[in-house]
Amino acid sequence: MASPTLTRSVALPRHRGTACDSQALVGHGVTPLDVRAAHARLAGYVRHTPMVPSPLLSRRCGSRVELKLETLQDIGAFKIRGAFNRLLTLSAEERKRGVITVSTGNHALAVAAAAEQLGIRAVVCMSTLVAQNKFDAVRARGAEVHLIGRCQDEAAAAAVRLAETRGFTLISPFDDPAVIAGQGTIGLELLEDAPDLDAVLVPVSGGGLISGVALALKAARPHIRVIGVSMENGAAMYTSLLCGQPVRVEEVGSLADSLGGGIGLDNRHTFAMTRDLVDDMIVLSEDEIAAGMRFLFRHERQVVEGAAAVGVGAILAGKAGWLGRRCAVLLTGRNVDMDLFTRLVTGT
Ligand SMILES: *Cc1c(COP(=O)(O)O)cnc(C)c1O
Repeated sequence: MASPTLTRSVALPRHRGTACDSQALVGHGVTPLDVRAAHARLAGYVRHTPMVPSPLLSRRCGSRVELKLETLQDIGAFKIRGAFNRLLTLSAEERKRGVITVSTGNHALAVAAAAEQLGIRAVVCMSTLVAQNKFDAVRARGAEVHLIGRCQDEAAAAAVRLAETRGFTLISPFDDPAVIAGQGTIGLELLEDAPDLDAVLVPVSGGGLISGVALALKAARPHIRVIGVSMENGAAMYTSLLCGQPVRVEEVGSLADSLGGGIGLDNRHTFAMTRDLVDDMIVLSEDEIAAGMRFLFRHERQVVEGAAAVGVGAILAGKAGWLGRRCAVLLTGRNVDMDLFTRLVTGT
C-alpha cells in the first residue's frame, strides 16, 4: 500500500508523557517481571554499558544528554541481550536440537555468538545476494550459514521449513517475548544509572528494543518519555502506527541499514507494545542520519553505524522536541562498513 507522508513526527495519542494504564504493561505477552528475570539471567553474559555525557549536545538542546554505549557489547551491538535471553530460556531438548534464524545483520551475529558461547548449534539463513563480508562475519562466530533463496523473504521461508523439518527453534529478531525482555534490560540499566531520567531516544526497526525499554521504564517511572527514531526510507513501524495496523513498506536502501525490513503482517507483540507504551516517533532523512554519524565521530569520537546515529541525528535536526532535564540516547551498534564510514566522515 502507499505510504502516508512521513515528514512530521507522529505523536502517539494515548500516552504522551503520561502514565500508561496497567493493562499496557502486562497485556502483551511480556511483563516488567520478565525484564527483571532477563536482567538476572544475563549477568555475566552481557555488559552493563556506560553512559557518557555529551556537553556539546546538551548545549544544543538544553537537556543534559548522555550517550549509552551499546557499541561496547561483544558483537558491537545491543542485540546480544535478546539473543542470550532467548537462548538461555530454551528447554534442554531445544538446546540439543539447535536454533535457526534469518538475518544478515546484528541479529545473526548475536545469535551466532550466544549460541557459540552456550554450545548450541546455530544455523543462519541468508539470501544468495548477501555481501561476502556479512557472510564471513557470521561464519566467524561459529554459525552454519545457509545461502538460500534470492531474497530475504525466500530465505525466511526456507528457515521456517528447516525449523519444521529439522526441529530447530526459530529465533525471531524482535517479535518474541524473551528477545523483547532481553533488550528491555537496557531500560533497567538506565533506571539504575540515571534515576532522574526524563526522556530516552531509541532507534526503531522491528520494535523489540523500544518495546522492552519502554516496558522497563514505564513500569518504574511512567512519566519518562520514550521516543522512537527511524529513517524516512522504509520505516515499517512508523508507517504501521500511522495506518493503525502492521503494513508492508517498500524496502529501500538507507544508511541506517540495520533499521530496514518489515515488522511482520502477523506481528504479535512489538506493534501493540510500541503503540501502547511509546510516546513519540520521529523519522529522519538520509542527510540527517549522516549528520548524526559525523557529529558522533568528530565530537564524541564514536564510530557508529547509521542505525545507531538516529537519536543524535534527531537532536541535531531539531526534531526531538523538549527532552526534559536529563535524557539518554542509545548508541545501539557500531557494525558499519569502514570504507563507507570513512567516506562519510571525511566527505570524500
Ligand atoms: C536491530 C537494531 C536496531 C533496532 O532494533 P529493533 O528491535 O529491531 O527495533 C537498532 N540499532 C541497531 C544497531 C540494530 O542492530
